[in-house]
Amino acid sequence: MTGTVYLVGSGPGDPELLTVKAKRLIDEADVVLHDKLPGPEILEAIPEEKREDVGKRADGEWTPQEYTNRRMVELAEDGDDVVRLKGGDPTVFGRGGEEMVHLAENEIAFEVVPGITSAVAGPEVAGIPVTHRGHASSVSFVTGHEDPTKDESAIDWGALADTGGTIVVLMGVGKLPDYTAALRESGMDPETPVALVERATRPDQRVAVGTLDTIVDVRDEEGIEPPAITVIGDVAGERERVKAFLRNERLDDGLEATDDA
Ligand code: SAH
Repeated sequence: MTGTVYLVGSGPGDPELLTVKAKRLIDEADVVLHDKLPGPEILEAIPEEKREDVGKRADGEWTPQEYTNRRMVELAEDGDDVVRLKGGDPTVFGRGGEEMVHLAENEIAFEVVPGITSAVAGPEVAGIPVTHRGHASSVSFVTGHEDPTKDESAIDWGALADTGGTIVVLMGVGKLPDYTAALRESGMDPETPVALVERATRPDQRVAVGTLDTIVDVRDEEGIEPPAITVIGDVAGERERVKAFLRNERLDDGLEATDDA
């Protein structure tokens, strides 16, 4: 009997934000193929003998997507039920789309299990609603991984700025200087609030806040590293109004201590 592949979102990192279904499928799976994004607390709770890491390898290189695709098919054909565990939601910048097509082409039955995406949860746990009746009637989810100076860049930052809505950038720590410059050049107010939420919902979550003008310096001073979400827009200013009562920071040794002092 051929097994089934489950493309499962793990949520942003807090094990309590796994769905009930994700938890059950992980428990029942023969093999869990994962990268590092689900976070250590979730991964360590999975018995080692059924975990297979298809993320960054020991030599620092990424496991090629072709290998992961092949491995899912191979295991299912051997009769294993496979959980392909992904950070956040499987189809938000998670290659879930490509993996679905690959499974279908190889006639492997699969099920998609949505997860809580960091694109919404990251800002939210920092006190930032991605939409807001007064400030933002739309939100754009964007990859920061592209070089905005490249001619073939698929992202029109000026058009995003013109929406007047919130811009949420994933994979956007490294290229922060490029796209904040692109947004300023397109006429976005340099005072627009910007927040970086690092390792959202994990015990070591940190939040750093600035403006379109200052956020690169803030990133450098605080040493913000991936994985982090960048939120650009007036909604990022809401954090200031609520943070004194926000209990989403799970430890108090992050930036909050200094931020609130
Ligand atoms: N499918 C994932 C996104 C994968 S792309 C999701 O829906 O959340 C990888 C990017 O996701 C990271 O570079 C970072 O921008 C973001 N990300 C994922 N988990 C995160 C977390 N716990 N905190 C902050 N950013 C996170």
